[in-house]
Amino acid sequence: MRRFDCVVIGGGPAGLTAGIYLGRARVNFVIFDEKGFGGLSVYSDRIENYPGFPDGLSGFELAQLMKKQAEKFGAKIEIKKVHKIQKKADFKVFAGEEVVEAKSIILAVGSNFKKLNIPGEKEFTGRGVSYCATCDGAFFNGKKVCVIGGGDGAFSEALFLTKFAEKVFIIHRRDEFRASKILVERAKQNPKVEFVLSFVPVEIQGEDKVKQIILKSTKTNEKNFLSCDGVFIAVGESPNTEFLKGFVDMDERGFIITDEKLSTSQKGVFAAGDCRAKEFRQIITACGDGAVSAFSCQEYLEKV
Ligand code: NAP
Repeated sequence: MRRFDCVVIGGGPAGLTAGIYLGRARVNFVIFDEKGFGGLSVYSDRIENYPGFPDGLSGFELAQLMKKQAEKFGAKIEIKKVHKIQKKADFKVFAGEEVVEAKSIILAVGSNFKKLNIPGEKEFTGRGVSYCATCDGAFFNGKKVCVIGGGDGAFSEALFLTKFAEKVFIIHRRDEFRASKILVERAKQNPKVEFVLSFVPVEIQGEDKVKQIILKSTKTNEKNFLSCDGVFIAVGESPNTEFLKGFVDMDERGFIITDEKLSTSQKGVFAAGDCRAKEFRQIITACGDGAVSAFSCQEYLEKV
């Protein structure tokens, strides 16, 4: 059985940054990532708020650079899905078909796109319903699309979609946005963007593909429908922590609770990035978490 001082679960910005720090500290560690690397960041078309890149770059490019940097300092990234962890004298980490032993763990498991859970959403996923404009936007050349949400995610998706679609409706349940002002300004200035405010989607309808979305006013309960070819859902994230239930303490939404050093309720286990209960989820804050968790982990390893 392979034994490590630390197993990092997740190779997004948090896990890769932890990898840079652990590598430089000469800790014996491995990073397991289900899909490869980069987490949700690889779906960002353009990142303009990560310092050091004044002209911006794509999420994929940034993640590739982080991976290269972690590997330069000795990080080994293996494509494996961790599905169980057991606490024995050390930890047993079940990664794909393999079980490895670890003295400590950094949970950098990230999050996934939150679902609306309305009729038609599941049925039309891949047939007009999408959670990723960078992946599917080009299929909507000259078409009408809706984006659901009022955060940075929704605005980034909507602005990207204006490259292809003829019309982009931003549908949001309030008439104020939590998205950054700069993104809201850009959307307001774009003639292809139209706002449908104080409405929530209640059903997505179509035949072989999406044809329309049924909306309900959050003010009057009045129902309305909007013809469209695509529905991009950007209503936030839910953490990939299902397999950790009962192992570490979480909040009611499944985000992992940590202290200031990013220790979880399980001694020797740390959490970093979007899977952690915290207010601000950005690539830069995930990287900050990655560094802090690696320092705390080293401190822990020196004592055991
Ligand atoms: P978010 O900030 O949590 O925003 C989710 C949006 O969806 C909110 O406007 C929310 O409405 C709405 N919403 C949630 N549940 C809904 C439901 N059931 N029905 C209808 N609307 C619903 O999520 P996000 O935009 O995905 O961003 C997640 C994190 O990543 C944030 O920290 C964000 O700053 C970051 N991010 C940053 C960038 C960037 O900087 N370019 C890009 C993408 C994401 P309310 O406002 O009414 O709650």
